[in-house]
Amino acid sequence: MDNQFNNYERIYWVFTQLCNDECMHCYNNSGPHGERISEEDCMSIIDNLPDQLQRITLSGGEPLADRKLLYKILERLQEKYDNKLYIALQFNGDLLTPTILQDLIIRGIDRFSIASIDRYHKNQGERKDVLASIFEDQGIVYTEGQPMLTKTDLQNTRRDVLTYGFFGSTEDMWLGGNWARGRSMENNIWKQNGMHNFCAIPSGAIAFLGNDALDLMQEISIQLWKINPCCPGTAQPLGDARKEKIADVLNRASKSEVMRKLNDGEAYAMGESLGISEQEGLKRAIELKNICLWCDEFFTKHYDIQKLAPKFPLEVISNTSVTL
Ligand code: SF4
Ligand code: SF4
Repeated sequence: MDNQFNNYERIYWVFTQLCNDECMHCYNNSGPHGERISEEDCMSIIDNLPDQLQRITLSGGEPLADRKLLYKILERLQEKYDNKLYIALQFNGDLLTPTILQDLIIRGIDRFSIASIDRYHKNQGERKDVLASIFEDQGIVYTEGQPMLTKTDLQNTRRDVLTYGFFGSTEDMWLGGNWARGRSMENNIWKQNGMHNFCAIPSGAIAFLGNDALDLMQEISIQLWKINPCCPGTAQPLGDARKEKIADVLNRASKSEVMRKLNDGEAYAMGESLGISEQEGLKRAIELKNICLWCDEFFTKHYDIQKLAPKFPLEVISNTSVTL
């Protein structure tokens, strides 16, 4: 069957949660005892990636803390995509040496994105100058720090120049505050503002199915093996990337009215097809102090994200839903 999602724009893959650091804001609980998946699982996931993919970002955890696995993944990606895939590595930079950088260049990394320039990380950007000279000694060119997320970025992609950049978790950047996930929740440093629609900015679910009206790339995240429409991750994943073709999972999701609302950046209104109004969604997000916590409630109580169906008959949901 012809499946439009067999040609997809960007996948963000956390292939390990092993990390040399253990930051207090870490949304996926990475650290020295972070969760890992096997090489076999990673190879199955690569087999299940879309036949054509424009970009992948490999992240963690700290990818260089699981280097043997990272190299296997890079080699398999090069095989599958015949060296045509744009590969970005998002990492904290703590473990980078000139020799490791050469190993990464040989294995096809196009973009080196240092994601630790903020007050939460152990080094807090102190290694920035050292890292810059490691990159520049190899002829790698500095470009502005934010991950490339727009269709314009995609069109302007150059593969003849390797680049690096720096960014971190700050309020004013694209993250829009710490996510209501993992250690950020435990340490009570998550963004507590239910009116902040994180879902409608890059790394939220907006445009994950593709949205011609917006200058944003299609993007999903895979957290170890969990397929999510966004980087924070939904309460339950859309599917299991070890067992299912990503394109099939997305094709299925594209038929769901709930998923199309997320694709439009309208998470407050995701329950409308079930009789839960946008006002009710907004009210719950405000009460819970975060839009992703409203989303967790929705997928836990009202809607089965894997079956893409309401959990209860629609009249029951409508009768029990909150009103302003
Ligand atoms: S935020 Fe980054 S560096 Fe810090 S523990 Fe998490 S993955 Fe590691
Ligand atoms: S509201 Fe839900 S879908 Fe949107 S970013 Fe948060 S967890 Fe992801």
